[in-house]
Amino acid sequence: MSLLVVGSVAYDGIETPFGKTDRILGGSATYISLASSYFTDKINLVGVVGKDFADEDINLFKSKNVDLEGLQVDDSGNTFFWKGKYHHDLNMRDTLDTQLNVFERFDPVIPDAYKDARFVALGNIEPSLQEKVLHQVNKPDLVVMDTMNFWIEGTPDALKKTLKGVDLLVINDSEARELANEPNLIIAANKVRDMGPDSLIIKKGEHGALLFTGDEIFSAPAYPVIDIFDPTGAGDTFMGGLLGWLAYTNDLAPENMRRAVIMGSVMASFCVEKFGPERLKNLTEEAIYSRYKEFRRLSVIPDID
Ligand code: AMP
Repeated sequence: MSLLVVGSVAYDGIETPFGKTDRILGGSATYISLASSYFTDKINLVGVVGKDFADEDINLFKSKNVDLEGLQVDDSGNTFFWKGKYHHDLNMRDTLDTQLNVFERFDPVIPDAYKDARFVALGNIEPSLQEKVLHQVNKPDLVVMDTMNFWIEGTPDALKKTLKGVDLLVINDSEARELANEPNLIIAANKVRDMGPDSLIIKKGEHGALLFTGDEIFSAPAYPVIDIFDPTGAGDTFMGGLLGWLAYTNDLAPENMRRAVIMGSVMASFCVEKFGPERLKNLTEEAIYSRYKEFRRLSVIPDID
């Protein structure tokens, strides 16, 4: 099944306690596309890059069968640039620099060939732009959206309007509490679902994720990653693995949603092992499925009589 991915395509400067890079490919749409490319070869990317965008990076997308008809190249400026530094506690990061560049004028135009996409991934961009995408597509089976505190605080009305057209929202625990204005995560989840999304995933960083779908709550374990190097893009990669799996299986039943959450966690656990999207460049099917099995083993709870 085809997957439409809309979000940022960027260059990032990243500093973690383990190393530093001045410039590496990044952006939400990049991570979502690369992660989902391991499951489906019908990925359609909509974003914008500037005149500095390297052929090498275009070729990376092409090598993963990511269609680039919807990637606008704006020669009037440079690609969006973001710089961040992680603390010793890798859950904490400071944004040191954000240069919007051509992203400032980004207007997502969905090519006709993409309008029938069955699955839509709205990466973390301004909510009004996310909504613009929804106006251009023809009744997809599943719209999945990410957002962040910046939009929850800055453009709450636009965000709530966009949420009405979303089937599955993927956010982290602090964002869920802030959006619902509610400290209890379970109550917050109900409140967020009342805003529009049928289903909700709350990511808890290195502590796993909660899936709320139908009447069910599924608690996904966190993989104890030993080689954690750079958490950048882990959230987007989670979304890519999740959607890639759903697009591949074309099955939205609650049991398969659980598999999708684990597949998202599997891909995110690989992503953090190297700088930027480096680790997502050459994974194997065997590595992915074997880590999926490790996730299963992690959470087997023996029964008691
Ligand atoms: P994550 O670590 O999942 O939050 O995603 C990190 C990616 O988000 C980086 O590759 C950045 O280029 C991108 N990013 C940072 N700030 C923004 C922003 N304001 N809008 C869109 N993308 C952003």
